Amino acid sequence: MPEIKLSSPLQYLKGVGPRKAAVLHQQGMETVRDLLFYFPRRYLDRSNITPINRLQVNQTATIVGEVKAHGILRGRKTRYEVILQDDTAAVSLTFFQGVRYWQRLFKKGQVFAATGRVTFFQGLQIIHPDLERLDTESDEMVHAGRIIPVYPQTAELSKVGLSSKGIRTLTTIIFENLKERLPDALPERVRREEYLIPLHDAVATTHYPPERESIESARRRLAFDELLGLSFFVYRNKGLKSTVTKPHRYAMPAETMAAFREALPFTLTDGQKTAVREIFDDLQREQPMSRLLQGDVGCGKTVVAVAAAVFAAENKFQTAFMAPTEILAEQHFRNWAEPLAAIGITADLITSGLSAAERKKRAQRAAEGKTDILFGTHALVYDYVSFERLGLVVIDEQHRFGVRQRGLLYAKGENPDLLVMTATPIPRTLALTLYGDLDISTIRGLPPGRKPVRTVWRTDSTRLKVMQWLRDEVEKGGQAYVVYPLIEKSDQMELRNVEDAWEELRGTVFAGVEVGLVHGRLKAKERDSVLAAFREGTVKILMATTVIEVGLDNPNATLLVIEQAERFGLAQLHQLRGRVGRGAQPATVVALADDHLGEMARRRLEYFAAHVDGFEVAEADLELRGPGELFGTRQSGMPELRIADLSKDRDLLESARALVTRLFEQHNDLDTAHRELYSFLERAAGRREVNLGGG
Ligand code: ADP
Ligand code: MG
Repeated sequence: MPEIKLSSPLQYLKGVGPRKAAVLHQQGMETVRDLLFYFPRRYLDRSNITPINRLQVNQTATIVGEVKAHGILRGRKTRYEVILQDDTAAVSLTFFQGVRYWQRLFKKGQVFAATGRVTFFQGLQIIHPDLERLDTESDEMVHAGRIIPVYPQTAELSKVGLSSKGIRTLTTIIFENLKERLPDALPERVRREEYLIPLHDAVATTHYPPERESIESARRRLAFDELLGLSFFVYRNKGLKSTVTKPHRYAMPAETMAAFREALPFTLTDGQKTAVREIFDDLQREQPMSRLLQGDVGCGKTVVAVAAAVFAAENKFQTAFMAPTEILAEQHFRNWAEPLAAIGITADLITSGLSAAERKKRAQRAAEGKTDILFGTHALVYDYVSFERLGLVVIDEQHRFGVRQRGLLYAKGENPDLLVMTATPIPRTLALTLYGDLDISTIRGLPPGRKPVRTVWRTDSTRLKVMQWLRDEVEKGGQAYVVYPLIEKSDQMELRNVEDAWEELRGTVFAGVEVGLVHGRLKAKERDSVLAAFREGTVKILMATTVIEVGLDNPNATLLVIEQAERFGLAQLHQLRGRVGRGAQPATVVALADDHLGEMARRRLEYFAAHVDGFEVAEADLELRGPGELFGTRQSGMPELRIADLSKDRDLLESARALVTRLFEQHNDLDTAHRELYSFLERAAGRREVNLGGG
């Protein structure tokens, strides 16, 4: 075997031919260094694997065993069953959903690690376990007392023999023949202050932990590097922004602004007032505003953004106000067009639901500067939309848009001010990191007079009772939403769909009650008339898909039933819950879920029922899912976190932020090691990657 260097192409390793190399390349790995930064997803060893004969009901456990048999069992409920056996006994893995998928996945003789809660039904079983395909060898290694790294797997990798075992073979070859250590860009002083081990040792330990205890110190080091890279990236972007100035200037708020406040049907809460003040201060500065307005669902962010748009209009600047759904954009327009007109401000609306001719006409008015505030969906970013003097861009529910859409809209003005809003509030340290290039205004609490929303979750077997209760409540004068995960029957997924449910319930439990149906595929006209009827109170029960998830505001709706709630993430459930409890009446949410739930789904629903505060829900979601999905970092253009866990690594995050601040603020006094770290991070930030052993 020739000498292996960090920069050696993987293709020349023993056992890697062109086919494997191509797949590795596809996964972003070309050199030995790249592979070393391909980290295990988790570890298996005797300390976290339970022999099957020791399993106990209600315990959550991981087992490793071989597939002895598998097949469909038909009964009251069709299910897929797999018998997994180890040296001690056998247990069944049961799947109620996705039968076809599982059928393809399992083959006799394969070895799997399965994690889940043990239940009893004609014997011990684990329902919908988390699964990891292993190889026979892993099974033996575990028995021999080794710690086995399990690598992230994709179908492509397994196909060319690069399952966990295949990757382990490569790392073994590498570590046996590698002639150099990974360079470490972190100054030794920092390492000692933060109790971090050298990078090379951390990487080696990650692939070959000598004992369980050492895994955490390796993880901490790698997590620190990621958080450092992320903090640097964010700080640097903020710095880049602060050097830009905008062409437009604001006068002090004057008559139009006063008239706007006067006309509001309510007084702003303290939180809203503070946010307005912060935004107005920003608008009056030379640099364009980049501000995030965060606050729980229903806290009243819209009026704050509209106030900003009014201030812009008063200064003769136009506002583009983008919302993620047509329903929401239309609602904003409908709510505000008249009161704005009364104070001399022209609002308009552009969505894809309008005819092409109509859209053109409206775009024309905006281009001529006749429209002050243009509400709309992503249709606003299309080429035919332009502005005479775009001064302010507002993006509602910003996490629902990609970087590209936000960027395109922004580019329609000359360094316009930017206000983005989100109803997924997060703790301040996290916000500073994730949105560090934005200033943040937070509205805490809800407008006065709101009653807390009671939330419960129930299993499917109680569906009929729940629906009967819903009808009774509606007959007493309430209004309700029933939400479904799908529009129509699909053979891909065994999900409830709103069309079938509508047919079924309308003629039975809901007979005699006015029921409406909305989903994303309805014609705009039809949908609008249903929504209008719901708003006016003639439609009592609105059956819908998640098109109603964001923003929809009907203060009279006090009841919400979510079907197949286990299908939704926590943040999404909370958004849905935000549809009710918007008036002075107490509200109730019932989440209906499958009788057989996986461990994660159960925990999610329990959290959901127990926490009504958006900040708490966001924290819980962070713990359950990790930040990527929640905050859309994956599509926000930031480096991605693979190791660091923002819910657990707050201390590391604080240290990383402090170091980054020092690198920037004391830039001229840095010693050589820190200066090198700075240039290293600068190069990495350019490539949007974060490991400190890079080239
Ligand atoms: P979100 O922050 O979720 O976007 P909205 O802006 O849709 O919330 O506001 C929710 C509801 O609260 C709306 O009906 C709005 O008119 C009302 N609202 C907003 N601010 C106040 C306030 N200060 N007092 C009373 N009601 C308010
Ligand atoms: Mg909103």
